[in-house]
Amino acid sequence: MYNLNGKVALITGAGGEHGIGRAIATRLAKEGADVIVSDVVSNPYAHVSSDWEGAPSVVREIEGMGRQAVTILADVSNANQVDALVDEGVEQFGQIDIFVCNAGSRPGPDRVPVVELEEEAWDDVHNINLKGTFLCCRAVARHMIDRGGGGKIITMSSVSGRQGSARFAAYAASKFGVIGFTQALAQELASHHINVNAICPGVVDTERWSYIAAALSSEDISGEEWRASGRHDEAMRQRDSRVPLGRVATGEDVARTAAFLASSESDYLTGLAINVAGGSAMG
Ligand code: NAD
Repeated sequence: MYNLNGKVALITGAGGEHGIGRAIATRLAKEGADVIVSDVVSNPYAHVSSDWEGAPSVVREIEGMGRQAVTILADVSNANQVDALVDEGVEQFGQIDIFVCNAGSRPGPDRVPVVELEEEAWDDVHNINLKGTFLCCRAVARHMIDRGGGGKIITMSSVSGRQGSARFAAYAASKFGVIGFTQALAQELASHHINVNAICPGVVDTERWSYIAAALSSEDISGEEWRASGRHDEAMRQRDSRVPLGRVATGEDVARTAAFLASSESDYLTGLAINVAGGSAMG
């Protein structure tokens, strides 16, 4: 549907089997891009499926489509690791044309009322979601400008970046921040023909929802235990009815918007924050 032949895409947080990152990485490959698959660890959800090897599984999937792919690990909150990620990606593929800034903090001790929120939990969320977005976009933007401009940067906010809700204070604040950052960067990079847009997903059925459910539960239960108890699917189906279009999103729903934003079809769009939420958030 789009032509990304000859383009190189970098996607962070792409090692989860059901994650948004994997869906975007494989969708961009299907459109013709070669892909740098990045994550903080090779297999972030190793416990969920014994068949899944994380980022290397995504690489194999993309190679199976006839595209090139490589895994490069980096912690997005660490400037040296982020700079090394971009340098190594450019060394291996010669360029980065598309950057999807998808890595996000794992829900846990941050999903409590503000009066119970520990400084460390706040910092963890902001270091990954907001500082990580800054560090990654800075490194990629420097590269894109150095090679003469042109490129697509897609950040990952959330409907929580438009409206706060109880027990989501740290997360919502970080995702509001991502939208402000995206708008500022879009203005700065417009003259270099680099488009910068944010995606704001609603509920997407990925591994992270077991962690959110466990953190919000009155039980003393971990995200791993929550998923193993078989309640993940049931909780997702309960949420389906709250979405006007009748179901929560899949990673592929988000990947469709990412593919559009990565393509030349979006050349006149910059500084936007686009809801992918089935109507559960508007405006
Ligand atoms: P996910 O947990 O599968 O993806 C997040 C990825 O980020 C994981 O692979 C994780 O290992 C990685 N990561 C965590 N810390 C990192 C670090 N320091 N450095 C590099 N990578 C790191 O969850 P997902 O649902 O696929 O979420 C992807 C993005 O979409 C996140 O930014 C999330 O906030 C956002 N989002 C998700 C939903 C949803 O309902 N699933 C809704 C709105 C926004």
